[in-house]
Parts: sequence; structure tokens; C-alpha cells
Amino acid sequence: MKVNEIFYSLQGEGHFAGTAAVFVRLAGCNLACQFCDTDHRGFTEMTEQAIVDMVCTFPASHVVITGGEPTLQLTSTLIDRLHAAGRFIQIETNGTVAPPPGVDWVTCSPKGAPLAVESVDELKLLYMEPGQNLSAYDRVKARVRSLQPCDTSDPERNAALTAAAVAAVKADPRWRLSLQTHKLINIR
Ligand code: SF4
Repeated sequence: MKVNEIFYSLQGEGHFAGTAAVFVRLAGCNLACQFCDTDHRGFTEMTEQAIVDMVCTFPASHVVITGGEPTLQLTSTLIDRLHAAGRFIQIETNGTVAPPPGVDWVTCSPKGAPLAVESVDELKLLYMEPGQNLSAYDRVKARVRSLQPCDTSDPERNAALTAAAVAAVKADPRWRLSLQTHKLINIR
């Protein structure tokens, strides 16, 4: 399995924000978003057992499998091995490839490409511009709908987007605001 990095931090965004978690970043993606803020191309080949062994060097039971696009590599056997080690598995996917069964929490962050999933645990929509139509993904069933202002790297524009996102959540309370808190407190 091509692994970009494994590190220990707090989940910064979405439903589990603030939760200690081991991040397994799998290399590679099937999309090329202009705003992508992750260098996911470099990798080390690791066996599934080596991944589990490294994950288990950290005390948290929460594991976030991310990317890149993790569904391009994620296997049922890795899920089974992590479950056997007592881990809770969250994945962060762009939704273009259905994840294997057994994932405990699927966070889908659509990036404009057609979705292969109809029902997820969390729909995490990037808020790209004031007035953005939030009904585009109404057909996707989700326990939690998170609206997250896109990081434009421009503080003024970010502040305007966040203010607009707050107004959007107040206008349509099916959504809740998600902030990239790891960036606010300068952790990974
Ligand atoms: S789907 Fe995610 S990881 Fe892939 S290019 Fe887009 S932002 Fe980056």
C-alpha cells in the first residue's frame, strides 16, 4: 500500500473536530482540485500489518484514513486488521469511489465530480463563494451536514467566506459550520 504519511494529531474539522486521531494519508488522488492543500504524491510502500503496527504506537483509538483519495487503495483486510486492533475508522473521501464495507464513519467532501455514494455519515461541503447553492447535494443522505469555508490563503476573503457560511447555516440549519481548527491553532 502506498502511504504518504502517518501522524498523530487532533482531527481539526467536521464532526470529530477536537478528537485525538491517528492520520493515515494514502498517496494519490483521482482528481486535481485547484485548491488542493495536500501534497499526497510521495509515498512509502507499507504492508497492511506495518500500517496497523505504526497506528498502534499511538494511544488514540480514532483513525482517520485520508489522502489523496483513500478509496483508491483502501481494502477490507486493512479495515478488518484495524478493527481487530480496537480502532474506529473514519475515512475522508471525495465520494467518487464507494468505500469498502466496514468503515465506521464516512466523511464525504464532494469536489464537483460525480458521486458514487448516495448515503454517508457526514457530508462535508466546501463553501467556495457567498450565495453558494447548498441544495446541489440534497439527494445525498447524511447524518451530519458540515459546511466548511474554503481556505483561499487570503485572510480578507477567508473572513468574508466564513461570515457568509455562518449566515448560510442560520438560513438552512440542516447544516453546521465546520472550521479548520488545526490551522487556527497551528497544529497539523
Ligand atoms: S479530491 Fe482532495 S486530495 Fe484530491 S485533489 Fe481534490 S482536494 Fe486534493
